[in-house]
Order: sequence, then C-alpha cells, then structure tokens
Amino acid sequence: MPTGTPEARGAEPTDVQTIANGAPMGWQRVVEDVVAGRGLDAEGAAAILATPVDQTLALVGAAGELRRRHFGNTVKVNYLVNLKSGLCPEDCTYCSQRLGSAAQILKYSWIDADEAVRQAELGIQGGASRVCMVASGKGPANRDVDRVAGMVGQLRERNPDVEICACLGILKAGQAEKLRDVGVDAYNHNLNTAESKYEDICTTHDFADRVATVEAAKTAGLSPCSGLIVGMGETDEQLVEAVFALRDLDADSIPVNFLMPFDGTPLEGTWELTPLKCLRILALVRLAAPASEVRMAAGREIHLRSLQPFALQVANSLFLGDYLTSEGQEAEADLAMISDAGFEVLGASRENVGANPTIRRRGVGTAVAPNA
Ligand code: SF4
Repeated sequence: MPTGTPEARGAEPTDVQTIANGAPMGWQRVVEDVVAGRGLDAEGAAAILATPVDQTLALVGAAGELRRRHFGNTVKVNYLVNLKSGLCPEDCTYCSQRLGSAAQILKYSWIDADEAVRQAELGIQGGASRVCMVASGKGPANRDVDRVAGMVGQLRERNPDVEICACLGILKAGQAEKLRDVGVDAYNHNLNTAESKYEDICTTHDFADRVATVEAAKTAGLSPCSGLIVGMGETDEQLVEAVFALRDLDADSIPVNFLMPFDGTPLEGTWELTPLKCLRILALVRLAAPASEVRMAAGREIHLRSLQPFALQVANSLFLGDYLTSEGQEAEADLAMISDAGFEVLGASRENVGANPTIRRRGVGTAVAPNA
C-alpha cells in the first residue's frame, strides 16, 4: 500500500502567483468562451494549472458551471471488478500489477462468471450504474474475450439496464466488435500521460498503441473511456499535452487517477500532488472537455483528502469503494459525500439501489483486503 505522510507530500507554493498580465484570470470569461465553442488553448490551460491558491475555489466554481450544464446535479457511480489481478508481463512504472512488482497485492488468474456477476452486483446494489470489468495484462487473447463475453451475457441478463465497460488492455483486430456484439457498452484504455512522457513510464508498449486501441473501440461503436494518471513526475506542459490528447480523442468519459505510489513499484515514494493541485487538474479536464464525463478516480482519498467534496463540483463521476488492488474509502462515506454536497446518484431511483452499500473487500474469493 502507498505510504507517506501529508508532510512528506508536495507542498503548495507560498507565493501568490498571478496570470500573464499580473491579474487573476477571469474564470467566468473562460467558461463563457468554452460555452461559445471557443476551446481552451494552451495558454489558458497553463493558466488553470498556475491558478493562485486564493483563486482556486473560484476556478472550481466556474468549472462547476460547465459540470452542471452538462450533468446537472447527478453523480455517476462506477464499480470496478478485477477479473484477473497481477501477473502482468508489462512494466508500467505506476502499476502494482506490473512485471517484477513487489507490491503486496492479491494475485489471481481469471475468476469465473458467477463470481464476476456476484461482485458486480455488490456495486450495482450500492448505486453503480456502470460496471467496469478489468483484467491485467497487455491485452486479451481471443479466448479471454470469449470468457468475458460469457460474463457480460450473465450480467446483462440479470441487470438489463446496467452499463458495462470492459478494460482488457490493447485490443487486436475484431475484438472490439466482438465485445460490442455481446453487449459491452464502453471500453476503457487510459492514455495515462503525455506522449512526451510515455517512455519514462513504460517500455513494453507505447503511446501510439494506446491511442490505437481507443480508436478501435470508437470505430466499433463502443463508448470510449480514456483518462490520466497524474502525479508521476510530468510537467505542467505535459499535463496539458495529455489532457489535449484526450480531448482530441473525443473520449466520452475521462477518469482522472491520482498516483497511488505503491511500495514495491518504481514510483514508490512519489508524492507530488496537493489537494488544490488535484482540483486544478480536474478543472483543466472539465474546461478542456466540458461535455465529457470526468471521473475522480483512484487515489482521490489520499490526494484530495478533505477537498474531495469540492472535486465533486467539477467531476460528475466516481468509483464506489475499492480500486483494483487497493482500498478506497467506505462505500457509505462515498454515498454520504454525494448526498451531503447536494448531488444525487445517477439512476438512484432504481430498485434496491443503496440497499447494500457495504463494499469493502475486493479480494475475489477471499475475505482478505486487496492490499493486505
Ligand atoms: S498493462 Fe495494465 S496491468 Fe499491466 S503493468 Fe501496465 S497498467 Fe498494469
């Protein structure tokens, strides 16, 4: 599990920065420009990331106008099911499941369809309207796609209204179409970082491979979900580059992960983010891609900390409960945060939603916590 104290983590600059001509940027005007279809440019994006401490909540408020314009007061709740954990031949530096990882995570091969459906329904009962079925590895073999197809069929039969997203790695020809044909709605494949940063975080595949898979999913008619991991040593310029690449991909949904620097991975001990920086990054994504679902994803608890409710003013989506190999906050706390901030869970009127929000153990087939 990631360790570190807030004191050891990144610090806010103490000097109040100003933008360009020395005056704080008028965020309201930026929002008006975005609404008018004048997209955010690189200068505006850089200004967002350089927002002074005393202007950051004004930025959040302005970005929140776009969030409400497109998503009202709803929060889309997503739920992760880790179908296959660890044992990956790839070397992504941020990943606890990577080749050679010494992170203390659960490792297991494919769970069966009954267990996958059982796990997914825990999340659905907790309020999730989208289930994300994830497997570690570079990409699926055709027999893996067949295996996932069987799971999707069972889940769909019992839960006709739930959205199903698959996240299986780099796709080969025909696999996206197969997933679409069995009822998968969306495909997640994160760009993670800027192309100019990519070789620092992975040597076993490249940025273009990731773009190609998102494009293949789009071409097949799957809703593209692609996002970021921030706090990996990227510069602000690279952050802007990555966000603009996601905008250009026209991702329907953009998860923003905040690096969880697992002990036993190359990025162990990397704490570069502050809660206010996380808010600025979310605002950047919202202003760059105003109509996309923006998800506050893994690491929100340890990086946004007490500012998580402010992030909901910008992001319109989150993962409920635990992540793939680590614990999130209690599902009850997530739902309380949504309610306390005046938001509603998307689809909350569905039968049984919220009936069983206690989702704490993702260790499939075991009572052990994922990162125990
Ligand atoms: S391919 Fe996926 S599971 Fe494998 S190391 Fe990279 S991020 Fe982790």
